[in-house]
Amino acid sequence: MIQALYLHIPFCKARCAYCDFATSACNDEAAMDAYIDALSLQIRRASRAGLLGSIKTIYIGGGTPTHLGGRRLNSLVYLLSLSINLENVSEFTIEANPESIDERMVMDLFALGVNRFSIGVQSFDDAVLKAYGRIHSAADAERAISNVQTREENVSIDLICGGPGQTMASWEKGVNHAIELGVKHVSIYPLMIEDGTPLARAIDAGEVMPPSDDEEADMMERAENILSAAGMHRYEVASYAYPGFESKHNTAYWTGVEYLGLGAGSSSMLSREDWDLCKQVGIFGTAEEVSSALPADSPHASDPLSETNVFRVRVSSSADSARFSTGLGHPETNIELLDERAAALEDLMLGFRRSEGVPMERIDHVRDLEPAISEVMQRLEQRELVQVSGSHLAPTERGWLMGNEIYEEIWGLA
Ligand code: SF4
Repeated sequence: MIQALYLHIPFCKARCAYCDFATSACNDEAAMDAYIDALSLQIRRASRAGLLGSIKTIYIGGGTPTHLGGRRLNSLVYLLSLSINLENVSEFTIEANPESIDERMVMDLFALGVNRFSIGVQSFDDAVLKAYGRIHSAADAERAISNVQTREENVSIDLICGGPGQTMASWEKGVNHAIELGVKHVSIYPLMIEDGTPLARAIDAGEVMPPSDDEEADMMERAENILSAAGMHRYEVASYAYPGFESKHNTAYWTGVEYLGLGAGSSSMLSREDWDLCKQVGIFGTAEEVSSALPADSPHASDPLSETNVFRVRVSSSADSARFSTGLGHPETNIELLDERAAALEDLMLGFRRSEGVPMERIDHVRDLEPAISEVMQRLEQRELVQVSGSHLAPTERGWLMGNEIYEEIWGLA
């Protein structure tokens, strides 16, 4: 039963200096119209196949969905309202960037059923925003938050620490400002310097200097202290919220809920039955395209996969938005078949992203499928990366800082 729907909008007004996401700067009106047409077709196919009947959360992300402008965004959301019973949808999020959202857009989206906005603020320091290559100012971000708050209190913002020229004083001021502005959810990310980005080149050329890893870790810790003191709790590695404002959609990803991603560059995690329905209506391309994207066997399965032991299917759609829009197929789509054991290990790994960790019953379930998990859990406990917390096994503070070590140990078994 698919309960979470993600739509990917791969366009931004301009490209940020650190970005390596599946997006591009696009101000071509015809290209955006064509993309929305193709995405609408995918939504209609999914709806006709009965794949959208149990949706509880919707997330339109990117890229910058609000860069589409009100007309395209409204028609997309209107189509969703015809395809999904929004009465059953408890959370409907749209990502926005400060330069492309205004009060009119907020009013229309709110009227159509959107009840959560996630705004890419990144910093309240104009010098840091400039170093990130963002095209908005701190004042634009404040205005965007205030525009959304005219209709909806459920506002999340993203903040990035470790930017060139960023000081601890500027960082603290920004995190405190988020609280003053009354946002309900904050996602905190360390700056990732990805090869090939303008920021990586500027750092290599010695033009800018980011804070050290230690300074960045101190900023993350300081953010936790400030946000906790204000009453928010860290419910996931990067996510802080006041009680009741935790992201339901993202929680679905970390708790093994089946989800469908539509659009170029999106990801899906499907049961075998829903995967069969997707194939029947051609959601991820023609039968030939799908069969050429299928692996001969899966590196994450204990046995060669036959039709009977496929338990779950992971689809990473091609990021080629131009081909997506023209219906020319999905040449780079990647399909992975997981058996029950691989799927259980993946759920376990994702579960350790959450502060409450993983219920013991789930670990018992994994043990039935993969006895070696006992040794892995013992090792993680000895290394003080996880600990028993009531009825759960939860990551320790050290485990959160060294999360990759937990994920690698578990994924090593898969
Ligand atoms: S707004 Fe986000 S997706 Fe768009 S270029 Fe910047 S970082 Fe990338």
